[in-house]
Amino acid sequence: MLRRLRKAWGQVEVGALALGTLACPLCGPSLALRLNRSDHGVRCLRCAGSSIHLAMGASLRARVPDLARLDAYELSARGPLVAFLRRATHSLQVSEFLPDVALGSELGGIRCEDMQQLSFADASFDLITHTEVLEHVPDDRRALAELHRVLRAGGILMFSVPMHGGDVTIERACLRDGRIEHLLTPVFHGDPLRDGAGILAFRDYGRDILERVRAAGFEHVEFCAPQIAPAWLALREVIIACKAST
Ligand SMILES: [Zn+2]
Repeated sequence: MLRRLRKAWGQVEVGALALGTLACPLCGPSLALRLNRSDHGVRCLRCAGSSIHLAMGASLRARVPDLARLDAYELSARGPLVAFLRRATHSLQVSEFLPDVALGSELGGIRCEDMQQLSFADASFDLITHTEVLEHVPDDRRALAELHRVLRAGGILMFSVPMHGGDVTIERACLRDGRIEHLLTPVFHGDPLRDGAGILAFRDYGRDILERVRAAGFEHVEFCAPQIAPAWLALREVIIACKAST
């Protein structure tokens, strides 16, 4: 706890500090604390949700009807979004990508899945969510096609990725013959409040990410820009897409 606090203190940006009441879409009445203007600089003080989690929660509440009837799949195994989905949906499957663990099997109760070759049957879920994962997947087009395959007709995909603000996605690395080839200086992403090395980003997404999602077969693909008080939360846009109903 002390180490976490020390790390949090290291994130403080003078002039950005702010505290305000928050109707957290994930956990209810709470307070929001802003340490800095980065995506991880805002936290709900009750559930520890970041601005990305809050954006997902607000978008789910605004755009996904009948959450309580949906079978959901979230591509991470812990955290405030997982806790919310566990309470709010009919059922929740979670997974992580665990190196050296057979796909579809479990380690310590956590199912191992590779987004590029999911072990689930076709049409297994009504809702799939993931946050800050797709940029770390070598073949994102294949991953999006897999998510489309395991969604039921009429199912919803909602996710977040870091966006650089421009139109065109920049490829930073690729896999060639099973080896990583760096096209640009390697960039690693990590949550500054968590321990551990970062994960390589294969690309920086532009707004053309919507085209990649459409190319995987999705319909009604768009950005969703949730707004909740306090205004300084400045939540990230998330991407929402549907699988055709028939
Ligand atoms: Zn919360």
